[in-house]
Amino acid sequence: MTLAHFLDGLCCADCGAINVLRLDPLHALIECTKCGTSALIVPEIGKEIR
Ligand SMILES: [Zn+2]
Repeated sequence: MTLAHFLDGLCCADCGAINVLRLDPLHALIECTKCGTSALIVPEIGKEIR
């Protein structure tokens, strides 16, 4: 499973929109293309898995 696939169906924690998160592998961030919120990848994945 790729990170891009993981982002499918993930919703923004800030605005709640689904499938608007963009992966930024250079900075290890995911960014919401709707409200502009960004978050580190690792904590988001850890939160989703557990
Ligand atoms: Zn958002």
